[in-house]
Amino acid sequence: MIRTGNQYRDSIRDGRRIWINGERVTDVTKHPMFKPLVDIRARIYDMAHEPATQDVMTYEENGERFAVGLKLPYTQQDWHDKRRATDVVLDDIKGVVTRVGDETVGEMWSLFDGKDVLNEVDPRFAENIERHINLVIKNDPFHVSANTDPKGDRSKRPQEQDPDMLLHVVKETDAGIVVRGAKYETAAAYANQAFTKPTIANWGDDKLSEYAVGFICDLSSPNLRFICRTGFAGRAPAEDYPLSNKFDEIDTLVVYDDVLIPWENVLFYQHTRAAAFIRATLHRYSAFAFVQRNLKLADMMIGAALWNVKQTGLEKQQAVQEKLAELACYRAGIDAHLTAAIANAERSPAGLLMPNQTFLMTGRVFACSQLHHMMHIARELCGGQICVTPDAASFRDPEAGKWLNKYYTLNDEWHADDRRKLLAFARDLLNSDYAGHRLTFQLFAQSPPFAHLAAVYRNFDWNEPLRFTKEAAGLSDRVYGRPKAAAE
Ligand SMILES: Cc1cc2nc3c(=O)[nH]c(=O)nc-3n(C[C@H](O)[C@H](O)[C@H](O)COP(=O)(O)OP(=O)(O)OC[C@H]3O[C@@H](n4cnc5c(N)ncnc54)[C@H](O)[C@@H]3O)c2cc1C
Repeated sequence: MIRTGNQYRDSIRDGRRIWINGERVTDVTKHPMFKPLVDIRARIYDMAHEPATQDVMTYEENGERFAVGLKLPYTQQDWHDKRRATDVVLDDIKGVVTRVGDETVGEMWSLFDGKDVLNEVDPRFAENIERHINLVIKNDPFHVSANTDPKGDRSKRPQEQDPDMLLHVVKETDAGIVVRGAKYETAAAYANQAFTKPTIANWGDDKLSEYAVGFICDLSSPNLRFICRTGFAGRAPAEDYPLSNKFDEIDTLVVYDDVLIPWENVLFYQHTRAAAFIRATLHRYSAFAFVQRNLKLADMMIGAALWNVKQTGLEKQQAVQEKLAELACYRAGIDAHLTAAIANAERSPAGLLMPNQTFLMTGRVFACSQLHHMMHIARELCGGQICVTPDAASFRDPEAGKWLNKYYTLNDEWHADDRRKLLAFARDLLNSDYAGHRLTFQLFAQSPPFAHLAAVYRNFDWNEPLRFTKEAAGLSDRVYGRPKAAAE
């Protein structure tokens, strides 16, 4: 099934308890700080129905249509199709949003790969993940990701402080488990369900196994509270802050105040090995869609910088060209990692096709760790005018506007209005609250930088450099020890 935008809007008008700026939100689909993103998510649903985009956004099986982004990947073509559908969405909305479903759904496929681990404790859990993956395809919900707890004092164990600092099970009933705690979740206030699982923290101790729990949380459940950070939309006019007003994905502290999770939604419980498995494999699929977003951020940085130097006649300067070339290396580098990840894709334990893990995880480090440097280069090329340019209202003022039109018109092609628009766009991309937020999002939202590097360490094949160096340096076979092992 593919839902319509309005079916999605109806699904989140469920009386959920949401706060923002200290106010209770009555209708999340209409509130000015949520509406832009709800409308984009609704637009993505509608694109699955529109003749111009239906074939890219959906596939047909037994006479029914389903979303391409939710399809289990078995072939390289499946990955090309997913990549294309995401590009078509970002082109349509003319900006970047990440947490709209296609990026988060892959986390469930990682647990699907761990069916054998789940079976160790209870075969019901392996059945549950398989059923939920199929339900997502069948029902087309907006699915998000919940990992990060407030965590508290990391030098203490959970039971040595407020035990709710990490989400845990407080009770078992015939109907299911009752959970208490809190998670930071982008988009949860306007989504349908979250794959909730342990964070990177001290849950791995057997004695604390009520913390080793994973489940699908229906975000309409009673006893959830959504306490959101303030939004960027509506704080200043859209013509001055075009990205802040349209593409702010609101993050939420979701409080689980004794929430009943039915047994059919429990994916693992009291199972530290399953918790360790999912932490180690969580992004083996979803990193692809995450890194793909950096490609579009690169497009916007290159575009803003290049249009600016074209406007001002600076693009002939060699020093300017070198900076543009650095931005191009960044973009092409990400593209190459994604393309190589599909070309060298690997079969997963459950028989799915994973993007090549070395290319994907090194690509994620490259894309995320260099983003601040690329923003710096783009900011330098756009120049200080992104900071100092007056707002659109001043350009319209009969007296001030005359001066602004004089000083912002460059020649016959570049009139003040286009120059103002470009500078406002570049300011919001590189210099605003929203720009800083976006940078932090790319750095942290799919786990922090140290975890990105840990994923590279786990996936890189260390054996070949060891073999080559052993032979080049003439080392004896003794260095391998017994049994022969990779670097640890
Ligand atoms: C904009 C945004 C959106 C987000 N969206 C989501 C979401 O939708 N769902 C979700 O679950 N989470 C989300 N997150 C949370 C994100 O995953 C966490 O911020 C991240 O996991 C780090 O946790 P923390 O913020 O508690 O930092 P901390 O754990 O306090 O870590 C801070 C720093 O301490 C160091 N550090 C901490 N622990 C270690 C360690 N074990 N080894 C080495 N160094 C360490 C690192 O330098 C790390 O960057 C989001 C974050 C941001 C900023």
